Amino acid sequence: MRQSQLFTKTRREAPADEVSKNAQLLIRAGYIHKEMAGSYSYLPLGRRVLERIEAIVREEMDAIGGQEIRMATLHPAEPWKQTGAWDKVDVLFKIQSRTEKEYTVGQSEEEIATPIAGEYISSYKDLPVAIYQIGQKYRDELRAKSGIMRGREFTMKDMYSFHETQEDFDRFYAIAKQAYLRVYERLGLVAKATEASGGSFTEKTSYEFMVLTDAGEDDILYCSNCPYCVNVEITDQKEGDGCTRCGAGTLARATASEVGNIFDLGQKYTRDFNITFKTKEGEEAYPIMGCFGIGITRLMGVIVEALADEKGIVWPSTVAPFAVHLVGLNLEDDAVRDWALGVYQNLRARGVSVMYDDRDLRPGEKFADSDLMGIPYRVVVSRKGKEAGTFEVVTRATGEVRHLTEEELYNDFDSDPDT
Ligand code: ATP
Ligand code: MG
Repeated sequence: MRQSQLFTKTRREAPADEVSKNAQLLIRAGYIHKEMAGSYSYLPLGRRVLERIEAIVREEMDAIGGQEIRMATLHPAEPWKQTGAWDKVDVLFKIQSRTEKEYTVGQSEEEIATPIAGEYISSYKDLPVAIYQIGQKYRDELRAKSGIMRGREFTMKDMYSFHETQEDFDRFYAIAKQAYLRVYERLGLVAKATEASGGSFTEKTSYEFMVLTDAGEDDILYCSNCPYCVNVEITDQKEGDGCTRCGAGTLARATASEVGNIFDLGQKYTRDFNITFKTKEGEEAYPIMGCFGIGITRLMGVIVEALADEKGIVWPSTVAPFAVHLVGLNLEDDAVRDWALGVYQNLRARGVSVMYDDRDLRPGEKFADSDLMGIPYRVVVSRKGKEAGTFEVVTRATGEVRHLTEEELYNDFDSDPDT
């Protein structure tokens, strides 16, 4: 896309009331627009990033057998009363209609997913099944000061699985845990599978997936030697203690952000909605259920927090809105402009996504915008480069500068699967 056509512009200042780094940078670079604390719109650049994150999550959920659906977001009150959530879940928004009827919007959607799956579960042959969606969630959060990391409206991937036996649930839970770790790795993050409280429905521990960042709201202890990691909420251990899991490392304390959570829900919801199946032995039983959440918009914020530098955002190539920021200088010179346009078209013909800065601005302003926006590779077309027959190619994450010929540039992108 040509940057002169992009309707958003970069800004020097973020709104005064925006205290979080992720939202400040994303607003300044034109990725998001703030509606109020905890509610943001996603603009062309932001939407592209979100969709790339969603695509990775979708691929990994499909790979473990998840079937994607799209649930209603406006719900009748009844199922929420049936599970007790109507009175117990303090973040649940309740909507009063002009009629006597009450409605709600989903903060998580066991109340909708369980009856949907239940319609089609009658025999052990119908199990296991896992359904998921990627969609909006609404929570009446008291504090929403972490930008897109804690929204009153946010995007979540929520999957619900149904199993014949505890053993089958455990099997799937382990597979899902690995799929989660793959998601975070593909997003350029290091997430720790952290032992945490199982919430209100189960005595068991659950796993939270935690990315170390000072912008997070959780505290964890993790082992210096093995993958063991635990939320401080559920342990008496302290920083510096030896790790009892591997016996070799010591525990370090860190602040982290929860980017996903996987739970054993047992039979809580299948009992509430009276969903049963016929076992092999011909008896009626309640399926064991799991729920598996990933915070999509929170992840976008965490990527910004974890990877940004003093100049701006740094996207991993797997989620960047464009692979290349083609920055044209001296475009008033016809020969340079034609060359830049040719490179823009050739890169696109090779399937490389390109933001072409064809605006009439000074080089310093273009480079500052480019650093702020965080596209992984900056390719500079200029009169000087034209004379030498090369482009300056700057890797945003490392600052590495290379001078490549047109052919070298194309070879470089032909070999990078993430572009
Ligand atoms: P937290 O402890 O941060 O409040 P939670 O434990 O209530 O989150 P879940 O109900 O397990 O969260 O939701 C699944 C995932 O959705 C979380 O792991 C997190 O990544 C994301 N998430 C939860 N609440 C929000 C929010 N208000 N804004 C953005 N993302 C959220
Ligand atoms: Mg939590």
